[in-house]
Amino acid sequence: MPREKILIADDEPDVLNLCTRIVCSEGYEVTGVLTGEEAIEAAQRERYDLFLTDMIMPGIRGLETTRIIRTYQPDIVCVLMTGHGTMDTAIQALQLGFSEFVVKPFSTLDLKLAISRALEKERLRRENARLSALIPLFEINKTLMTTVEEGQLARRVLRAACDELGATRGILMLRRTDGRLFVRTSTGFDVDQAQPETMSFVLHTAEALLQERQQVLAQTSAGAEARVAEFMRRTQIESFMFSPLLAMDAPVGALVLAKSERGARFAPGDSELLSVLCGQAAIAFQNASLFEQIQRAYQELQELDDMKSEFINIAAHELRTPLAILMGHVDLLVEEIEDTQIKARLQIVLRNALRLRGLVNALLDMRHLQNGEAQLEIAPCHISDLIRDAMDDLASMVEAKGIQVLVNVPADLEPVLTDPQKVLLTLSNLIQNAIKFTPQGGRVGVEANVHEDELRVSVWDTGIGIHAEEHERIFLPFYQVEPSLTREHEGIGLGLSIAKGMVERCKGRIWVESEPGQGSRFIFALPLRIDPDPVPAVTGILFSSEDVPGGPSS
Ligand code: ADP
Repeated sequence: MPREKILIADDEPDVLNLCTRIVCSEGYEVTGVLTGEEAIEAAQRERYDLFLTDMIMPGIRGLETTRIIRTYQPDIVCVLMTGHGTMDTAIQALQLGFSEFVVKPFSTLDLKLAISRALEKERLRRENARLSALIPLFEINKTLMTTVEEGQLARRVLRAACDELGATRGILMLRRTDGRLFVRTSTGFDVDQAQPETMSFVLHTAEALLQERQQVLAQTSAGAEARVAEFMRRTQIESFMFSPLLAMDAPVGALVLAKSERGARFAPGDSELLSVLCGQAAIAFQNASLFEQIQRAYQELQELDDMKSEFINIAAHELRTPLAILMGHVDLLVEEIEDTQIKARLQIVLRNALRLRGLVNALLDMRHLQNGEAQLEIAPCHISDLIRDAMDDLASMVEAKGIQVLVNVPADLEPVLTDPQKVLLTLSNLIQNAIKFTPQGGRVGVEANVHEDELRVSVWDTGIGIHAEEHERIFLPFYQVEPSLTREHEGIGLGLSIAKGMVERCKGRIWVESEPGQGSRFIFALPLRIDPDPVPAVTGILFSSEDVPGGPSS
């Protein structure tokens, strides 16, 4: 049943009585009056959805009564009853904003239809206005969601709210980490110049309203509750709107909008518009704060990472010199000492010192790669020579594990122009891993050939293999598939990241094909020739134009 409230004005009691009965029978709430003056009084006291009026009445006539009532209730729907059913009357009624008109004498059905059509038109008009308001809101939302700096976001929210609601003044407050409100930005309020008591009153009132989590609208201070009226008086505003900023029901701040010009009022749909805007703004503020937290955490991690790298760098440098001295002396002793038992022990010392030097070098290589300090030294590179050198260095490991090594490189493979030292380091790391992760008596192989315009080298083994989900991660520094505490293999997890860094420095690619229990194949592809690094640009002035042959002095 419809529950709209309808005000009817007609100076003929019989007509008024009839209209009232017809409209009541449709379930509307009805007030009937006999004059324009009474209709105006009723509209001042109460809000109506529809005003049905006779055109000719003694005293204030129907059209004038409607005009006055509209000043109190701008969105009231109006229907005119008239005895002059001419085209002129119809046009005049529509021009004056009447939604419908009925010509006397009318049937019960005529009146019912006119009222329901007028109310339906109004419903559609409001729906339309609501949808049109959503378009700018959508645009605003896009801007807000991409703003992550709090100050900029606050200014954008306030500007959008003032523009959309035609407010001339506004204050946007946010909660500090200690839970207290502070003014983040304002327009039309000179917050810096305001009396401290006024500001403290403003914040205090906003805090109290925020606790209630309700929007507050006061078109004039006369009709406002005491604390809002006092707020309006102190800040000299004519009409006032307050909206909490709630993100997932938590109050993150508040927005006050105001109009100061005499008689300025907020429009009927403004409350709805503001609450949607504030809902979006609150989420945007929460996102901005999360973004800031993530950025801070990232920065802290970055600092820790820098400290860790610095520590590794210093430790590696400091270890290198004493290690070199130690190795030099042990080497001499091995040569000088005759006693075979002591000699064997010294050789163990030497072997372990060599391992230690390998670790120190790996740390320094990694550091150079990360700092971009690994310079290219390009020369013709015979891959079979490099494979042989790498295998020679690892001969004792191969022998100790009884590994069968298979090398397959075409005899006519042309040398490539790249950095041989970097390729050797890559090969050494890959072959060392292949031997390390292959059980006793297994097989390890190295193959090379030219594929399209690349040299492809693969190092394969019949070892433990690697799960597909680890294929990317194993190239990260310090990453090892087995947890370090339960690990049975040596190493600090730098071999593959160094290999990757070296290959990429030579403008190549590296990847792995492997499955657990099926062995592994590490492949790297290098361009057949690469250019040397560009000579760094000269930034200082090395000589003036006077020194140049043909310069001004010559
Ligand atoms: P490290 O060998 O010192 O642990 P790497 O960076 O060379 O460090 O290798 C990272 C990890 O990748 C190894 O710990 C191992 O888990 C896995 N891995 C590397 N090569 C092989 C291989 N040939 N077979 C099986 N796993 C391997």
